[in-house]
Amino acid sequence: MIPFLDLKAINTQYREELIEATTRVIDSGWYIHGDEVEQFEKEFAQYCQTQHCVSVANGLDALTLTLRAWKELEKLKDGDEIIVPANTYIASILAITENNLKPVLVDPDEQTYNLCPVKTAAAITSQTKAILAVHLYGQLAPMPELMMLADQYGLLVLEDSAQAHGAAINGIKAGSWGHASGFSFYPGKNLGALGDAGAVTTSDDELANTIRALGNYGSHKKYENLYQGVNSRLDEMQAALLRVKLKHLDRETDRRREIALAYAKGINQPSLTQPILGSSTMGSLENHVFHLYVIRTRKRNALQKYLNEHNVQTLIHYPIPPHKQQAYGHFNEQDYPLTESIHQQVLSLPISPVMTDEQVDTVITACKRFEMH
Ligand SMILES: *Cc1c(COP(=O)(O)O)cnc(C)c1O
Repeated sequence: MIPFLDLKAINTQYREELIEATTRVIDSGWYIHGDEVEQFEKEFAQYCQTQHCVSVANGLDALTLTLRAWKELEKLKDGDEIIVPANTYIASILAITENNLKPVLVDPDEQTYNLCPVKTAAAITSQTKAILAVHLYGQLAPMPELMMLADQYGLLVLEDSAQAHGAAINGIKAGSWGHASGFSFYPGKNLGALGDAGAVTTSDDELANTIRALGNYGSHKKYENLYQGVNSRLDEMQAALLRVKLKHLDRETDRRREIALAYAKGINQPSLTQPILGSSTMGSLENHVFHLYVIRTRKRNALQKYLNEHNVQTLIHYPIPPHKQQAYGHFNEQDYPLTESIHQQVLSLPISPVMTDEQVDTVITACKRFEMH
């Protein structure tokens, strides 16, 4: 079986370096908020081209605490509308509702699955205060256009970069386009810890300080609590492991892009819609880091079954859109036709930096045979 994602093989590549990092933390005798976290934050801020990186416990907290900080800073208040793509992973929406803000779901662009500037503009009302731009599957949302809209209407922009570490448009990276950006380092993400981890990047000093306090019991100074905060911290062990993984991220992204190009060239069947490669202006691959390689077909379920029978494991991202979830009962009757058809038609092929050329060929051949059989 070609696994969808072989996490063990990914981390085993760096076994010695990871063990060395672990040993360093054990021997330091310091396990929360120490040198490793400080260094990782510096290195990741530099990687994302921002002034600050504030580490937190996971990607959901990164988004939730950023919105919460904007509320503490009185840039947002209860009931404000936040525009968000209807086809995102549910975490993006949870961060909004957790803060008593109102998610305004919009159908995405059909080609890229990301927010479309025209549909986003159409969803703006006098209550709209922010856009949560999700870089779904690893491809940057159209940030130049979205930032222009945000400037025009005075909106905040929060990027959900959980799937897009290192993606860029015109050399400007995910994490530095918006006023802030949430990252996840969940093990299966492109930059994955060996447990839960997340971070916010921003170049706004006040915002960074507020998020830092909120994630640390609302405290800037030990035993002095400014806010009713939470405990959301990255620990030294995960920070040390992430520092190892960050060094290898760009090389891994290159390999993901190679595989994506091979799929795009090799599969090339009219009934299997391939992802749009690269931003239309650049004709390059910089805007996509292929966290997922997602194809679309009306025969999705049959294709998944066929591939499984031919030893290719695939997944669906995602089978049920947020507005159809029981958790969001009050959205169940709303209509997002494009989102619903996307959820019925998408299939994620195996992609990871440890796949061999032979495995890539096997996937391509199986997809082509499916078309003929
Ligand atoms: C993974 C993910 C998150 C949440 O990250 P966790 O670390 O699992 O909390 C948020 N948004 C998107 C788009 C994701 O893929």
